Amino acid sequence: MDHFLYRDGALYAEDVPISEIAAAVGTPFYVYSTATLLRHFQLFDDALEGTDHLVCYAMKAASNQAILKTLAQAGAGMDVVSGGEYLRAKAAGVPGDKIVFSGVGKTADEIRTALSGGIRQFNVESEPEMEVINAIALELGLVAPITVRVNPDVDAKTHAKIATGKSENKFGIPIARASEVYAHAASLPGLEVIGIDVHIGSQLTELEPFELAYTKVAELTEKLRSEGHNIRRLDLGGGLGIPYTRSNDAPPLPVEYGALIKKTLGHLDCEIEIEPGRLIAGNAGLMVSKVIYVKSGEGRDFLILDGAMNDLIRPAMYEAHHDIVAVQEPAPGVEQQPYDIVGPVCETGDTFAKQRNMPPLEPGDLVAFRSAGAYGAVMASEYNTRPLIPEVLVHGDQFAVIRERPSFDEIINRDTIPTWL
Ligand SMILES: *Cc1c(COP(=O)(O)O)cnc(C)c1O
Repeated sequence: MDHFLYRDGALYAEDVPISEIAAAVGTPFYVYSTATLLRHFQLFDDALEGTDHLVCYAMKAASNQAILKTLAQAGAGMDVVSGGEYLRAKAAGVPGDKIVFSGVGKTADEIRTALSGGIRQFNVESEPEMEVINAIALELGLVAPITVRVNPDVDAKTHAKIATGKSENKFGIPIARASEVYAHAASLPGLEVIGIDVHIGSQLTELEPFELAYTKVAELTEKLRSEGHNIRRLDLGGGLGIPYTRSNDAPPLPVEYGALIKKTLGHLDCEIEIEPGRLIAGNAGLMVSKVIYVKSGEGRDFLILDGAMNDLIRPAMYEAHHDIVAVQEPAPGVEQQPYDIVGPVCETGDTFAKQRNMPPLEPGDLVAFRSAGAYGAVMASEYNTRPLIPEVLVHGDQFAVIRERPSFDEIINRDTIPTWL
């Protein structure tokens, strides 16, 4: 459920007409709904009620500080995957003891930044990384809390580019080697081993892969405890999928996911952490774009938009489907027609949808891409010297630009010319 609904024939974000935002900020732009962000956070928080837990929002999904602050004020921690994200979370007011640091290639500088600024834990992905964290902690006179990310060799049944829990993926340490790796960690005086971490992929639409992985984590918890490790925190990653279409089978609900966690891990008396990103932000955001041209081609018509693959790369990168709706609600019974919906970028990959049924549209009409809140703005680029598009946050009947569209001068002046030219 989201808060982007038609009212009197016009699409709204909460109590603000999308067309009003478009008039104020120009197109294309991203718009997020505060109520939807909070609702999705709350669904997870409620799903784990009765267990000691922290929902750490995976901020790589949508990392604008206004979004981080909205969620942090509701009680969320943050899952970061780079030094930049760590600093951004801190800038948004998130305390270090609510920030967990994930990622397969943390650099020494990033580790130093997080350790000196305060960190809830590092989710360590390899023994070489463990050695580096240990060395920096000793240098700073600190002890680094860590979990080790284990790779449970589970098929997440999702798109290959976002599956992370198979043994051939680059993530974590093989679960079969866990005893050895935990013994190594325990021998390093700059580290305090506090738990286990697992994250098997993104956009999972079934509970079964989670169940397989979490069952392995439960077994491992008991094994490591019997080997003398004080395992007291389990970080279960993110990955619960969202419905990208209205029609397809809906993925499991957070409450069902929470019940599974309690069933598989509840008896261990561990603190539970989860790291949802997509489910919190995905359906809380739209990308709004304008039709520039309607072009008749060989046997097909093209809707050419002012938004492009550099603004929303998911269709080009993951063959992702986004529902695309007219901002002006089509009259009941109006005949739809198929369009190829494309952007202006000079490659065929810049195609959002093929033969998509849409109401008749004309240049100047607005369309909205649904489910664009996660892995949308954060993956945008300035390819074709197209400015990063603005982000807007709606709160009831208010809206605010939370990232401005840069001017062409700002973009162009970022280049510097060597003296020999
Ligand atoms: C990407 C990622 C997440 C979030 O995944 P979603 O599918 O957006 O919920 C959580 N944890 C880690 C370690 C990740 O890399």
